Amino acid sequence: MMIPLFKVAMNLPDALDGVAGALGSGQLEHGPRAEEFERSIGARLGNPFVTAVNSATSGLQLALSLVHRPGDSRPADRDAEVLCTPLTFEATNWPVLAEGLRLRWVDVDPATLNMDLDDLARKITPATRAIVLVHWAGYPVDLDRLRAVVDAGEAEHGVRCVVIEDCAQAWGATFRGRPLGTHGNISVYSFGAIKLLTCGSGGVVAFPDGEAHRRAKSRRYFGINRHSERRLGEYDVADWGYRFHLNELCAAVGLANLAAVDDLLERHRSNAAHLDKELADVPGLEQVARPDAADPSFWVYPVKVDDRPGFLRRLAEAGIGTSLIARRNDAHSCVADAGVPLPGLDSVHDRVVHIPVGWWLSDEDLAHISTTIRAGW
Ligand SMILES: *Cc1c(COP(=O)(O)O)cnc(C)c1O
Repeated sequence: MMIPLFKVAMNLPDALDGVAGALGSGQLEHGPRAEEFERSIGARLGNPFVTAVNSATSGLQLALSLVHRPGDSRPADRDAEVLCTPLTFEATNWPVLAEGLRLRWVDVDPATLNMDLDDLARKITPATRAIVLVHWAGYPVDLDRLRAVVDAGEAEHGVRCVVIEDCAQAWGATFRGRPLGTHGNISVYSFGAIKLLTCGSGGVVAFPDGEAHRRAKSRRYFGINRHSERRLGEYDVADWGYRFHLNELCAAVGLANLAAVDDLLERHRSNAAHLDKELADVPGLEQVARPDAADPSFWVYPVKVDDRPGFLRRLAEAGIGTSLIARRNDAHSCVADAGVPLPGLDSVHDRVVHIPVGWWLSDEDLAHISTTIRAGW
């Protein structure tokens, strides 16, 4: 039997009861469950300016739309550049293309696997409008340094750069003791099927201010005020939008799972503490660095290894699930135009692999993982 890298965390039978209630309510698309879910997430994060969406991918696109199409009838900013990190799932970056924006790669810091903030400082230009970065595996980026770099770049080039944090893997992660989504940027969480907190499919966008939140909420559903008298045709869309709202079935699932997620997160953290200790001195294996002020969510446990094919083979033989999760995004032919040298990423991407750390591991599973790796490959 294989120890899986991911497992769906479903709080049964509560999730079933919640969905049954939604199915019988006559309100499937919009209703009280999504509103309650949104309020509950806001309360957990300590940020009231949150908008529930049908996926993190939609949330990222919604956030980007505010950057380059800022006002009611203002045209899109076609020269806008967005600085992106290539070591992530494709969902982080393809919304930039969906919005018709120009994507520019920033290198990866081989120590953290997150965006290289020194390279970010070099890449901000007068055309930069947004920066999209990921907290890979739920290991937070150093948000203090990020802010200093962005402030300096904005002052030097006379621009305003909106920072969008892809927190898809980071439910429960904190920086300086505060959840991601409360540090002055736009933050996007995923509640997809294999995320720690799941709606089946869903997400939330957290904004730093009420004005961006208000505009995003309107654009989430076509730009239509749902409380207007649509029956009579008495409504106007000044600022068109998308179909990105969270439906009632998914919200019901999310509400049930939210009640159980804290215990699961604790188990990810204690399992990670075991791996931190047991894998600290293994020849040919390097752990991923994180800032002192960061408390990760440990969605998976990333490591860097010599002879990755040998490592993958050895763990497969031992019944331990692993994955590379994503291909470096700059290698895809759809973004061939954006190719630039990325020496940091080159130095590390053949060595990265993810091993299980989640709530489903028994003590025996955890010991089996560390013993197998410590025995070499
Ligand atoms: C899962 C994931 C997404 C996409 O989330 P969806 O809710 O499925 O759209 C985006 N970015 C990262 C890093 C992810 O892991």
